[in-house]
Amino acid sequence: MAIQQVIGMIGGLSWESTSEYYRLINQAVRERLGGVHSARILMWSFDFGEIEKLQMAGRWDEATGLMIDAAKRLERGGADFIIICTNTMHLMADEIVASISIPLLHIADPTAIAIGAMGLKRAGLLGTAFTMEQRFYRDRLVDRFGLEVMVPEMEDRAMIQRIIYDELVKGHVIDKSRVDINAAIGRLITRGAEAIILGCTELMMLVRQFDCTVPLFDTTTLHAMAAVKRALDLENTSA
Ligand code: GLU
Repeated sequence: MAIQQVIGMIGGLSWESTSEYYRLINQAVRERLGGVHSARILMWSFDFGEIEKLQMAGRWDEATGLMIDAAKRLERGGADFIIICTNTMHLMADEIVASISIPLLHIADPTAIAIGAMGLKRAGLLGTAFTMEQRFYRDRLVDRFGLEVMVPEMEDRAMIQRIIYDELVKGHVIDKSRVDINAAIGRLITRGAEAIILGCTELMMLVRQFDCTVPLFDTTTLHAMAAVKRALDLENTSA
C-alpha cells in the first residue's frame, strides 16, 4: 500500500463542522483500508470568534491574511494538499493558492461534479449571505461546470444567515429552524431548482435528504470524500 498523502485542514470555521469532516474522513479511510487505519491529517483550527468579527465588519483583507498564514503553517508542517473546511472562506481561495506551492482542493468542485454526474443542471444554493450573494462561489459553479445557480429570495437569505451564525456554529440544532429552511428549499424547488447545494458546512447538521424532494448535495461530505480520494490516490479509479 502506498503511503497516504497528508491532508492539511483549515478548520474551526466552525469547529462544529470541522469535527464532521474529521469523522467523515477517518471513517472513509478505515472503510477503504480496513483494520485500524485512519487518515494522516494536519489541522489548523481557528478561533472562529476572531474570524467572524472580521467577516461581519467586512475586513476581508485581514481575514485573507489569516487564511494565508494558516495555509502556510500547514505547508510548512508537511501537508501534501489543503482543504478549507468552509464554503465562505473560499472567498480568498485564489490568494491562498497564490501563496503556497501545494494544491488546494476547492470545496465547490466535488459538489459541482456530483451534480453533473446525476445529469442535473439547475441548483439552488444555500449558505451564508457571503456565499449566496457574492460571486466567488456561484461563478465557479457556473463558469467551470456549466451549472445554473439560483439563490433564495432576500428574506430567506437573511433567515439562513441568522440560523447559521446564531445557531449552527454554536452547535444548536433547532427543529423550528429546520422547518423554516425546508420551506425556503421548497420555494427554490417551486422556482425550478433540480438540486439543492448545502453550501455551508454546518447545514448538514440541520437539513436532511429525507425532508427534500430533490437531491441534496452536502458540501461537507462531498469535500471530505474528495480529500480521502486524493489522499489515497483513488482519483482516477471508480472507488
Ligand atoms: N462553515 C460555514 C460555511 O461553510 C460558515 C462559517 C464561515 O463563515 O466560515 O460557509
